[in-house]
Amino acid sequence: MHKVAIVGRPNVGKSSLFNRLIGRREAVVADLPGVTRDVKDGLMLYENHRIVLMDTGGLWSGDEWEASIREKAEMAIEDALAVIFVLDPREGLTAADYEVADWLRRLGKPVIVVANKIDSPKHDVYLAELWGLGFGDPVGISAEHARGLDELMERVLQNLPPDDEDYPEVAPIRLSLIGRPNVGKSSLLNAIIGSERVIVSDVPGTTRDTVDVEWNYGGQRFVLVDTAGIRKRPDTAVEEYAIQRSETAITRSDVIWLVVNAGEIGDHELKLANLAYDSGKPVIVVVNKWDLVPDKELKATERFLDEKLAHISFAPRVYTSAVNDYGIHDMLAEAMKLYNKWQSRIATSELNRWLEIWQMRQRTPNFQGRSLKMLFMTQAETAPPTFVIFCNNDAFVTRAYENFLQNRIREDLELAGVPVRIVWRARGA
Ligand code: GDP
Repeated sequence: MHKVAIVGRPNVGKSSLFNRLIGRREAVVADLPGVTRDVKDGLMLYENHRIVLMDTGGLWSGDEWEASIREKAEMAIEDALAVIFVLDPREGLTAADYEVADWLRRLGKPVIVVANKIDSPKHDVYLAELWGLGFGDPVGISAEHARGLDELMERVLQNLPPDDEDYPEVAPIRLSLIGRPNVGKSSLLNAIIGSERVIVSDVPGTTRDTVDVEWNYGGQRFVLVDTAGIRKRPDTAVEEYAIQRSETAITRSDVIWLVVNAGEIGDHELKLANLAYDSGKPVIVVVNKWDLVPDKELKATERFLDEKLAHISFAPRVYTSAVNDYGIHDMLAEAMKLYNKWQSRIATSELNRWLEIWQMRQRTPNFQGRSLKMLFMTQAETAPPTFVIFCNNDAFVTRAYENFLQNRIREDLELAGVPVRIVWRARGA
């Protein structure tokens, strides 16, 4: 897929343009300088083209982020086939605009100069001055009013190789990283999307609102939802805030990475594990900072985790070190695997064969001399796989037996790691 970077000074309207082009409404757009500090990737579909747009942080902001933002923008531009240079010409060009232009010239990529906030034809007079930047014909647009976008896209396409591949539209896997502050969520995010594109910071409130990060890995699209929640907040009730934020993130995702540090599993983790479990979505326990566990304590640490996380023992565990880039592939591979299983459907014939064999092998619970008989089983829903079992009397079903059966279903029917649900229906005695 071809990449295009959007750059410019703070507050010229880069994020509005980005959101407009990828057709998203929810991202942060505020009239505050420097709200977007990280590089965000978004997939744009235009005619037959799939273009990855990269929205960079505000350049020449004059604040403490300036150097780091520029560095990240350079990395984005390195990957890009063209650069959209956004300006707000209504106030006239500034010295900083010329500096950005010089910097872009040094980077050597094709640049399309865009004058934003050209809300009506009478603003076209502002375009003339942009010739002076030396990148040719400027395009006048209004991101807010969706003016001039086709002309802009024409110019972008001129810089991309012809691309007539027919891509099937595949839904992205939506993921969230949840866990207490400091377990390494931002570091993992950086390790996952590579190249340190997201700024890890100890300063509270790096990002103010919901930000989703989208990327491609192994031919699969992924979206990490609500990455803003991954950052620290100045709130004193940090953990309470983290729980609320996690609830939202869980609701918005398909698969959940619950990040923990070995040896530090407490109420917070258990609460999050329960929330995740109740959502019916696959949970992967990511044991981060694994590099800090001494070799001779590895076994004991695994036992500790088994014991603490017994109630979600079916959830797969991956061991990671965000600082050494270790286990990152496993996180993604496991997410893909669980996502597919979570959405799978098992044929009724197979389910009933399994049910029959299972009842021959294993005694069912009984009550006052009568025992549970399971007559028929079918899968009613996917995501999570939900099975309806018709039985003689659902009062015979104990919680323990249901858990036991869920585990067997996971194990025997290739649903390892996936939450499954059982709905009981009594069919007379
Ligand atoms: P977050 O609050 O969960 O997003 O945590 P951060 O990503 O900000 O990480 C908190 C601290 O732990 C930072 O100082 C990181 O450098 C450090 N850290 C994160 N992951 C690892 C890891 O795998 N191993 C080690 N040794 N340190 C880590």
